[in-house]
Amino acid sequence: MAETRSTCCYCGVGCGVIIEHEGDRITGVRGDPAHPANFGRLCTKGSTLHLSAGPETLAVRALRPELRTARETARQGVSWEAALDHVADRFAAIIREHGPDAVAFYGAGQLLTEDYYVFNKLVKGLIGTNNLDTNSRLCMSSAVSGYKMTLGADAPPASYEDIAHTDCLVIAGSNTAFAHPIVFRRVEDARTANPAMKLIVIDPRRTDTAEAADLHLALLPGTDIALYNSMLHVMLWEGLVKRDYIEAHTEGFDAIKKTVREYTPAMASAICGLSKKEIETAAEWFASSPATLSMYCQGLNQYAFGSHNNAALINLHLATGQIGRAGAGPLSLTGQPNAMGGREVGGLANLLSAHRDLANPAHRAEVAALWGVDSVPEKPGKSAVELFQALKSGEVKAVWIACTNPAQSMPDQTLVHEALATAELVVVQEAFAHTETCRHADVLLPATTWGEKDGTVTNSERRITRVRGAVAAPVEARHDWQIAVDFARRLGVALGKGELAQRMFPYADPESIWNEHRESTRGRDLDITGLSYAMLEADGPQQWPFPEGASSGKQRLYEDGVFPTVSGKARFVVTEHAMTAESPSARYPLHLITGRLRDQWHGMSRTGLVARLYNHEQEPLLHMHPEDLARRRLKGGDLVTVRARGGRIVVKVLESTTVRAGQCFLPMHWGGNAMSGLGSNTLMPSKFDPHSKQPELKHAAVQVEAFVAA
Ligand code: SF4
Repeated sequence: MAETRSTCCYCGVGCGVIIEHEGDRITGVRGDPAHPANFGRLCTKGSTLHLSAGPETLAVRALRPELRTARETARQGVSWEAALDHVADRFAAIIREHGPDAVAFYGAGQLLTEDYYVFNKLVKGLIGTNNLDTNSRLCMSSAVSGYKMTLGADAPPASYEDIAHTDCLVIAGSNTAFAHPIVFRRVEDARTANPAMKLIVIDPRRTDTAEAADLHLALLPGTDIALYNSMLHVMLWEGLVKRDYIEAHTEGFDAIKKTVREYTPAMASAICGLSKKEIETAAEWFASSPATLSMYCQGLNQYAFGSHNNAALINLHLATGQIGRAGAGPLSLTGQPNAMGGREVGGLANLLSAHRDLANPAHRAEVAALWGVDSVPEKPGKSAVELFQALKSGEVKAVWIACTNPAQSMPDQTLVHEALATAELVVVQEAFAHTETCRHADVLLPATTWGEKDGTVTNSERRITRVRGAVAAPVEARHDWQIAVDFARRLGVALGKGELAQRMFPYADPESIWNEHRESTRGRDLDITGLSYAMLEADGPQQWPFPEGASSGKQRLYEDGVFPTVSGKARFVVTEHAMTAESPSARYPLHLITGRLRDQWHGMSRTGLVARLYNHEQEPLLHMHPEDLARRRLKGGDLVTVRARGGRIVVKVLESTTVRAGQCFLPMHWGGNAMSGLGSNTLMPSKFDPHSKQPELKHAAVQVEAFVAA
C-alpha cells in the first residue's frame, strides 16, 4: 500500500489528508497530523472521501469526450481531438461573427490554482473578453468587496491560530459546526482551554453552532447591518471605542459616527427582533474583551447588500482596534477549497492576476506584459447572474462550464435551465456526469478529480497547500489545466493566432504554471516569490505573503497598523439597513432561509455518492415552527408545496423550534427543476449586491401549503 499527502476537496478549512492507495485504487483516507489546518482531524465528509473515489463510482464519472451536433440527439463518444477541434471551430466562428464577448466561461472554486490561472489567461489574454466568472461569485465575492472597501485588499487578516488566542469569538452568518467542522473543533478546544472566552453567535436559526453560544442573537434574516450599526452606537455612547487607534490608523470615522447615531438599541431591536439588552451585551463584549475575533460566511455574503454586511462588521473591529493583534480581527470563512486561489489569479469577471483590478489601466498593462499580449480588455465581464441572463437573451451564445453545476447552484433556476437549453453551444468540463448541468452539455469533456490531480489550493487563512494525485486518471479523463491548454492552442490556430497561443501556453506540468503565477505576484500584497513547489514539499503548507528572502509567511496582517490603501489607513464604510430582495407579504408570508447540512457539501455531486453521508439527513426537509404548522393544519412528515415568486418545489416538512415562527429553513444541497425538483435555489431571487454582484441566495419570501396532487 502506498500513501500520498494531499488536501480535502470540500470546504475552505483546507484540511490535509493522507490518501491510502493500492495500484489505481484509493483504499482509505486519514487526516494529516502534520497539516496546520487540521493536525490530523477530519470531519465526516473528509473522512469518507475515499468512498467517493475508485472503481465503484465509475458509473457516474465522465470518462470519454462526448459530442452532439443537434440538440434533440444524444451525445456520442468521440476522440479528444474531435471534441476539442469541434469546440475550437465553433468558438472561433462565434467570435469572428459576434466578437469575443459572445462567448463566456464559468468555473469553480474547486478548480486548482493552476487550472484557474490557465483559464484566466485563455479568456482574458488570448480570446480578449472578461466573460470569465465562477461559482465563487455565489460564495465569497461580498467578502472580497467588504475587505477591499474597508482594509484596502482582499486579504483575510487573521488565522485559525487566532481562535486559540481570542477572548471573544463572534460567529456571524455561519453554522461553523456543520459547514467548517474542523474549525469548530478548534473553537471547542479554545473554550476548554479558556473557559472565560465568550462566544457570540449571530444567526436567525438556533443551529448547532448557536446552541454552543454564550449569547445567541437570533436576528431577523437580513438585519445584520442594523445590529452592527447599533452595536457601534452603544460602543460610542458607553465610551468603548478606541479613539487612539481610530485617530492613528483609520479614516471616515466622523461619517459613520453620524450614521450610527440613529441606530439606537430601541430602533435596532425593532428591526432585528432582538432585545435592547442583547444588543448592548454584544457591544460590550465585543469592545471590552482583550481580543475579539469574528468569523463569518454565507449568512453575511449571500444578500443583495452582502458587501455592506461585511463592511459593517469590519467597522466594529476598526472602531475598537480589534485587528492586527493575536486573537483579534475579521476572518471570513471560505466555502470552497480554492475560492481563495481563484481570487489570487484574478479568476472573476472584474479581477486580474495577483489581486489586480480590471478597472485600473496600469494593472491591465502589467498583466498584458506578463502574458505577452497587446492588451487586456477594459470592459468588465459578465458576473454569474448576468452571464446566464445574457445566455438566455442570446447576447452570449456559447458557454464553457468547468467543474461546477450552475443548473443546481444558481438562483432563478427556471431562467438558468432555459438559458442552457437554448444556448448555441454548451461545453461542460466535468468529472461527474450525473449533474443537472451535464444534461445540457452539447460537448462533455471528462476531467480528473480529487485523488487524481496535482496542483495547489489556498484555504481561508491564506495558506497554500499542495494537492497531489495518488492514482492515474480513469479511462480518458484529463486534467483541467491540460484541457484548457489543449483547447487554447487549437483555438489560437482557428483564430489565426496559433503562434501566439503556442507562446502563451507552453506548460508541460502544473508546476510551470504555478511558477508563472508566482512571478505575477512580485511586489503585490500576496507576494509569494519566496515560495516554490520544492519548499511546499519540504516545509509543508505556507501562508502568504511570502516574498523572496522571507523565512516564513505572515500569520497575521496589519500588525503595524498600516493598511494597503492610498493613505495607509483603513476606511470606515457608511452602511445603512436595507430590505431583503423579497419581503414577506400576504401572499408569501414566510421568510425562507437556506443553509448547509453537516454531511453534504454543495450540490452533492460527490458527497451524494456516499451512502453513509445520508445517515444524518436523508432528504431535504422544510423546517417549520410548530405555530406555523398548526396554522396550516400541517404536521411533521407532511408533503408541502413551497411557493416563491420564482418557482415552486414539493418537500416534506419537519416540525422544528430551531426557527422562529414566521420563518422556515431549507438545506441548499438538492437540485432539480421548477416543477419536479427539490432544490431551494428554484425559489431564490436573482437580485445581487451592486458592489460584489453576489446574489441573495440566503433568503426568499415563500408561501407553504399542504401538497395536493394534480
Ligand atoms: Fe474537508 Fe472541510 Fe471537513 Fe476539513 S472541515 S475534512 S476541509 S470538509
